[in-house]
Amino acid sequence: MSQSAATPMIEVADLWKRYGEIEALKGISFSINKGEIVGFLGPNGAGKSTCLKIMTCFIPPTSGSVRIGGLDVQEHSRAVRKRFGYLPESAPLYTDMVAYDYLKFVGALRGVTGRKLAKRIPEVAEKCGVTDVLGQVVGTLSKGYRQRVCLAQALIHDPEILVLDEPTVGLDPNQVVEIRTLIKDLGRERTVILSTHILPEVLVTCDRVVIIHRGKIVANGTPQELQEAQASNPPVVLRIGADGLSSEAVLSTLRGQPWAGSARVRPVGLAGEMEFEIASKGADDARERTISLAQAQKWRLLEVRRELLDLEGIFRKSTQE
Ligand code: ADP
Ligand code: MG
Repeated sequence: MSQSAATPMIEVADLWKRYGEIEALKGISFSINKGEIVGFLGPNGAGKSTCLKIMTCFIPPTSGSVRIGGLDVQEHSRAVRKRFGYLPESAPLYTDMVAYDYLKFVGALRGVTGRKLAKRIPEVAEKCGVTDVLGQVVGTLSKGYRQRVCLAQALIHDPEILVLDEPTVGLDPNQVVEIRTLIKDLGRERTVILSTHILPEVLVTCDRVVIIHRGKIVANGTPQELQEAQASNPPVVLRIGADGLSSEAVLSTLRGQPWAGSARVRPVGLAGEMEFEIASKGADDARERTISLAQAQKWRLLEVRRELLDLEGIFRKSTQE
């Protein structure tokens, strides 16, 4: 089958996965283009690992489909598996093996053998920075080196697509930086999907972020797009002195303004102060109108600001129901 430039590398369509009573995925759809580094961001239990395992043919979906370069992963699991390098969540390292033998073993499993494999091992070792520890027993390596050996095994058959499930979990801060740099480097020639529950990780590593929560996608875009989408009409936050005012009365005044969309009370931890969030109707910045209104009403104005969300805020907003 020929693949046009417009065909995405990976197409995930309406994926559902049920484990007994647990509905881990509830209709996930997205696509990934060749060469993208995409981050799956979501809290623990969101369904990230489940989705990655289905994509890499480790488990079948309950329903829905995954296509890699137009091929259905279930119908063509053999061909598809060759195209993936996979770093599972808890890397099943053979800890008694010498690193070199481990890479040799995995290489053979993936169909790389003989002279090709003998040439390939030092290449991936070099790329992953494990050349110096190839002679060591895997179990005696530091967590950072073990993770690198794991990356090397994922790369041994030179896959087009690299799937990394929480690649930096358990690493110290220096190792985290090293692994992220390595991932970016690997992403130059490959399509990479990584999952993480750590927000800054996707910011520094990924071209695109898919936020997943309770088995559903709640946002999908570049870090910048996500910020812009949320910021196109940011709500205005108004803080005034309570001064015997009832919040209901203030709300009804706010809601009565022709320029105001909706308004709600926001909890404040301070006695004597009240805070409101006002959505403006148009794309206008409603701060000045809010200030004029507060003055006309003789409210004791303490603060007016626009609520621009950072990615952390977007994540919180996207994942709260
Ligand atoms: P994440 O990787 O985002 O933390 P997972 O995909 O591991 O999420 O899990 C999603 C949900 O599915 C969780 O509620 C988890 O407990 C459940 N789950 C995952 N794997 C299994 C399994 N093999 N059997 C039963 N439930 C599972
Ligand atoms: Mg997981």
